[in-house]
This record gives sequence, structure tokens and C-alpha cells, in this order.
Amino acid sequence: MKGGLLLVKTGGAAALPEWQARFAELAPDLDVRGWDDPTVDPDAVTLVLVWEPQPGRLARYPNLRVIFSSAAGVDHITCDPDLPRGVPIVRMATEETAQTMGEYVCLAALSILRDGNRLAAAQANRRWDSFEQPHTALDKRVGVMGLGNIGQVAARMLGALGFTVAGWARTPRELRGIKVHSGESGLDDLLAESDILVGLLPETPQTRGLLDRERIRRLPQGAGIVNAGRGSLIVMSDLIAALDEGHLGAAWLDVFDPEPLPADHPAWRHPRITVTSHVAGFASRRARARSVVAALEAHERGEPLPNLYDADRGY
Ligand code: NAP
Repeated sequence: MKGGLLLVKTGGAAALPEWQARFAELAPDLDVRGWDDPTVDPDAVTLVLVWEPQPGRLARYPNLRVIFSSAAGVDHITCDPDLPRGVPIVRMATEETAQTMGEYVCLAALSILRDGNRLAAAQANRRWDSFEQPHTALDKRVGVMGLGNIGQVAARMLGALGFTVAGWARTPRELRGIKVHSGESGLDDLLAESDILVGLLPETPQTRGLLDRERIRRLPQGAGIVNAGRGSLIVMSDLIAALDEGHLGAAWLDVFDPEPLPADHPAWRHPRITVTSHVAGFASRRARARSVVAALEAHERGEPLPNLYDADRGY
């Protein structure tokens, strides 16, 4: 499979030469073409590497063998009602993504811990605001929703900062240094014990709208929320209400539903919300190309494709 034609839709036309160069180093037999290349014969397309392919487009390639997501999430692919059935979808998993996501989560958690909103307001108003910091990470508990490739790394990094870390996943398991919760009642326990709650979940029918008014209320008074998984996890109006009522102290949000966040959305100007533009995780094209080629090599050795999307689980 390392030969064949790989059609790329990620980073736009400007990124194509770099994709071609990266794949040429790693898999010289692969013919790498741009998404809008009019000379491509649809029958020749065997592989795609995509971010937000237009609905219906993947169904045009009868010989498609694998769909590689250019990102960790695959909801931007699986939302296509005409997605060809039976073609495996591989999620992108690189060390760089997990590392950068972990860094973002630590940045947000430390900002919430040290009252970054107050610090920013003081500078904006040229006010010398010398206040005492009542807490350290050593007396704060962080709950991480999602303990996959990214959640596990983020949890480890938060633990290294001194936070007490617990997590929540679909399947129960043992993880060193982290109390792992699962299931509905496990989520209630996690919420009750999270001074800072971190969302690192994929978008699925089960995770959509999970953090609503009732669940946000289960967090301790003054808790902070960080969401870098998918925006659909949180009911935004409930989050804003909880911040306005003082139940929540602060929120750092990197992902929204829809994206881009509309210019008139109240989150942009909310004094307790930090908005970032889906920039938490980043992986270089070199790392992503390496990940695609490693998956193809594993497949050629007769091993299963790694990081496969499972339609029954929804991620
Ligand atoms: P992953 O390896 O598939 O891990 C997903 C985790 O979520 C797993 O621990 C899984 O539980 C858990 N989970 C899924 N559904 C659940 C449910 N209904 N209840 C409880 N736990 C559930 O994914 P990943 O690579 O860590 O990425 C996570 C998400 O981060 C991606 O899907 C993407 O949406 C987002 N992301 C965002 C950015 C950004 O820049 N903001 C960058 C990269 C990724 P199990 O362990 O039991 O399977």
C-alpha cells in the first residue's frame, strides 16, 4: 500500500509542496497529489489524507483503501452522509500533538490557578494589583475527561506540576498516579472532585452536550473549565450562566460549535473566558507524514492499522 495515489486535503494548496517533499523522503513510491488536481483519475486514488473533506467527495473514489484523518478527531469526516462504507479511517496520533495539547492544558490550568483574568485586567487598566495567591497546584484537583493518546499525556504533565489528577474514560483501567473513573456515576464522582475540569474527549453522540447546566453544577463552587477536545461537549449558554452566577470561576476554550466562533458570540468579550482559535494541538507535516507511512508499513507487515476509528464506539 506504500505505493498508489494519495490525495491530500489539509493545509490548502500552499501546503502541497511540503506534503510532497515529506512523503518523497519516506515513501518515494507514493504519488502525492492535491485535492483539486484536475488531472487525477478518481479510479487511481487509493489513499486520502484529509481535513474537512466536502460531503460526498470521498464516495467518488471506488478504489479508496484507507482514509487518513489529518487530525486526531474524525468527526469532520464521519459527518459525511455519503461516507463510503467499509473504508478504514485512521485517526492522527503523533507525539507532537499530545505534547502540544498537554502544554496548552497546563497553560490553561496554571492560568486558572493564578487568576490569569485578574492579571490581564490589571495590566489592561494599568492598575498595580498586588494580590496574594491563595493556592498552589499542590492543593488543587484536576479532572481530565478523556484518557486517550492526548488525555494520558496531559494528565501526566499536570501531575508533574503538582496537581492531583483524576480522569474519566469509557473503559475502566489502571493508570499509574491517576484515579480513573468511568461510566455515568464515575463522571459524577469526577465532577464533584475537580477544581479544574479538562475536556479532551472526541465528539460522539454520547459526548455531545454532556456538560450541561446540571453537570456543571456538580463541580465545586469556583471551579474552572478547560475544553480542548470538541466544542459540542459544552452547552455554551449553561457555561456562561454558571460563570455569570459565580458558580464557575473561569473557562479556557479552544474549541467551539460551530467554528470559527461567530464574531458576535458573547464568549469573545466575557471577562472570565479565554478564547483561543483551535490552536491547542499542533503536529508538523513531517510528523503527520511519518505517522501515515508508519501505519502503511504496519499494514504491509500484516499488522492491523493503528488508531482505527470504530463506528460502534463513535471515535
Ligand atoms: P483518543 O485516543 O481516541 O481518546 C479518546 C478518549 O476519550 C479515550 O480515553 C476514550 O475512552 C474517551 N471517551 C470517548 N468517548 C467517551 C465516553 N462516551 N465516555 C467516556 N470517555 C470517552 O483521542 P485523542 O487522540 O486523545 O484525542 C481526543 C480528542 O481531542 C480528539 O477526538 C479531538 O476531538 C481533540 N483534539 C483537539 C485538538 C485541538 O487542537 N484542540 C487537537 C487534537 C485533538 P477509552 O480510553 O475508554 O477508549
